[in-house]
Amino acid sequence: MFITEITIISIALLTFGLMLVLAALRIRSQEAIIFHLALYAAIGLISGLSLLLTRLGVSVPLRGISYPLTTEFTLLALVITFGALTINLQKKETRFLIGYWVAGAVIMALWFVLLLNFPEPVSQFGPPAMLWSGLGWVAALITTLTTLTLDFRKRQAIQYINRLRYWLISTTFLGAGGVVYYSNPTIFNWAGLPLIIVGSIVATYTVLSYHTPDLKLLVGRAVRYSGVMGVLSAVFLLGLALTVSVSRYLDTLNVLVWAVALAILMANIYLPLWRFSNRLLTRIIFGKQSQDQRQVIKHYSQTISTALDMKRLGDTVINLMIETLGIEKAIVFVNERHGGGNITLRPLSSLGTEEPGTGLISPDSPFINYFRQGKRILSQYDIDVLPEFRQLAQKERAWLSNLGMELFVPVLRQRDFVGMLTFGPQPQGTAYYDEDMDLMISLADQTALAMDSARLFEQLSLVNQEVGLLTEQLAGADETKSDFLSIASHELRTPLTQIHGYSQMLLDVTEDELRDPSYIKTLIEGVVKGSERMKGVVDLMFDVTEADVGDMKLFKGHVSLGDVIDQATQSFLPALDERRIAFGKVGIQDLPVVEADGTRLVQAFENLISNAIKYTPDGGKVTVEGRPSTLNGAEPAVEIVVADTGIGINTEHQERIFEKFFRVDDTLHHSTGKTKFKGAGPGLGLSLVKGIAEAHRGKVWVESMGHDEVNFPGSKFHFVIPLTAKIETQESRKQSQIETRHWRRSDLFPDEEES
Ligand code: ADP
Repeated sequence: MFITEITIISIALLTFGLMLVLAALRIRSQEAIIFHLALYAAIGLISGLSLLLTRLGVSVPLRGISYPLTTEFTLLALVITFGALTINLQKKETRFLIGYWVAGAVIMALWFVLLLNFPEPVSQFGPPAMLWSGLGWVAALITTLTTLTLDFRKRQAIQYINRLRYWLISTTFLGAGGVVYYSNPTIFNWAGLPLIIVGSIVATYTVLSYHTPDLKLLVGRAVRYSGVMGVLSAVFLLGLALTVSVSRYLDTLNVLVWAVALAILMANIYLPLWRFSNRLLTRIIFGKQSQDQRQVIKHYSQTISTALDMKRLGDTVINLMIETLGIEKAIVFVNERHGGGNITLRPLSSLGTEEPGTGLISPDSPFINYFRQGKRILSQYDIDVLPEFRQLAQKERAWLSNLGMELFVPVLRQRDFVGMLTFGPQPQGTAYYDEDMDLMISLADQTALAMDSARLFEQLSLVNQEVGLLTEQLAGADETKSDFLSIASHELRTPLTQIHGYSQMLLDVTEDELRDPSYIKTLIEGVVKGSERMKGVVDLMFDVTEADVGDMKLFKGHVSLGDVIDQATQSFLPALDERRIAFGKVGIQDLPVVEADGTRLVQAFENLISNAIKYTPDGGKVTVEGRPSTLNGAEPAVEIVVADTGIGINTEHQERIFEKFFRVDDTLHHSTGKTKFKGAGPGLGLSLVKGIAEAHRGKVWVESMGHDEVNFPGSKFHFVIPLTAKIETQESRKQSQIETRHWRRSDLFPDEEES
């Protein structure tokens, strides 16, 4: 008896010592639960030590300290610490823990008070102190059991519940140890203490290992294993018995031969039999069909490869997950911006739960780091429990836990986070089996391939769209080019024909004609007019090209807009008169002086006024109105509106008319008359106006109700430039260009000319 007791106490001392070491190894994690575990082990150690000293009958080395009393006190402290451990395990708020410790301290203090007031039975296990200590045990264990039960009801995560199950086992052992102690302290050393040791070991294991094996699964597996072994042994024994009896009756053959035959038979049927019984028992115990993983993955990858766009892929993945894993809750995510930057998890498809919002996870979040370490499955429980997730950003934690999922499986492609599969808790509340998790990982790998193809496909259709757009633009450019060719050849051929005709006539002059200076003058004038007109067209093209490449040089100066409009109108006065078009100016004289290139502005307004006259029928009205304005909401500017009562412009053309060579009508169906009604030009005027406005950091646009040659809705061209152009004066300029500036288009195209 004595030896047994000493051995048990020594084991207890060893156990608590080991617990202390293990807790000390983890002390750096700074978790409250580890501190508590260390405290628990230390108390256990003291308790064991005093038990040992009591049992050995060592006399009191220090005055006033009684070993039996120390044992009793430490046992009380032990169970109170166990309660605190439980609270820690449940991750209750700190105030709970503090409250609990206050109550525990009161109990322990009262124990001392009682002890001092009843000094007599102190040396033995005195009833009042004992009673009080027993009450302490009951209180601590009841608290533990109550919080455990409440937690069991509340919690969802299977791993958590599993952990609580382990804790319940530990509590039961501890409780049983207490019952032994208080019912008969003398048998405690060899009966109660082992119970407390087992309870403490289970508790330590639960605290230190975050992943406790699933108890149900563990038991199930053990049963299955024994079942399979039972079947195999039964068959083997049956075979053996058969062999023995057969060899006995037919002893013509050596028993050894029979044994060999049996061995061969057994070797052959062993594997199929093992598989069969394993499958059968799995079905009986776990209530599900064990699947051939390879078949499942093959089916999965075949089906998934047909889904080419992301949304369809998401739905297919979910459907396959129902089919292969029998899950009822899952969400499939795709990482929108994969490769660098934030991980943006957009839900593709969901099952049994509402589709959540897109989640943003930083690339160095513990969530991502976890997978970077090569781990393939993470559970919500891990996020709640593992110390490495304490650094998880609040937003990320909230998003993840709001998903209500149990497992997170990343979809990785060469360490690139392409997406994520998430699985909700199993319907029966059981844990996922290891095989399920392996399958999940394989499915995630298959999904990675499919997601990649889907993404490629999406990108391809995007590229396709862009190519389509480019083709359209190219076709447009081609059109513009042919427009240019037809218009340019038309515009240039007319004056060329004129020059050619007059020079031919000059060449063919007779002696008589030579003597008539007025005739010769007319011919030469014809040549000059033709060449001037040609130069006008070429210069215009030159200006537009310059504006087009953003290279228009401006000569800055203080410009009065009144003068600009007057100059621009000058050459049109006869035409206005002839076509009975009223011309009005409003507010122009009141406009402030601007810093701009006056000649360019004249050129711009000549084009606007020329157009206004051209597209307005006889008897109409053209108005030029000026007013102060702003650019980009703040910069002081002036706005000049050239309004007419003409044919108007359709909305769809209102932007395109500012493009080079764009003309609303058929390109060749036009006259070059500058002020004739609908006498279109080469389609360069507005493009130049836009170039001039933009070179001044201003803008130009048109407002019109549409094209209508019956009701004449009219058009309003708005021209806005800032008060100060803030541009550098360009000193040097090619001679021909300076010349160009002084040649007015109006001078080049006399009204009467038509092609
Ligand atoms: P064009 O030399 O043909 O006049 P523009 O670039 O000046 O070229 O104008 C382009 C087109 O915009 C014109 O062909 C015409 O169809 C349309 N347009 C320009 N101004 C007006 C206006 N005031 N009223 C109606 N249409 C206009």
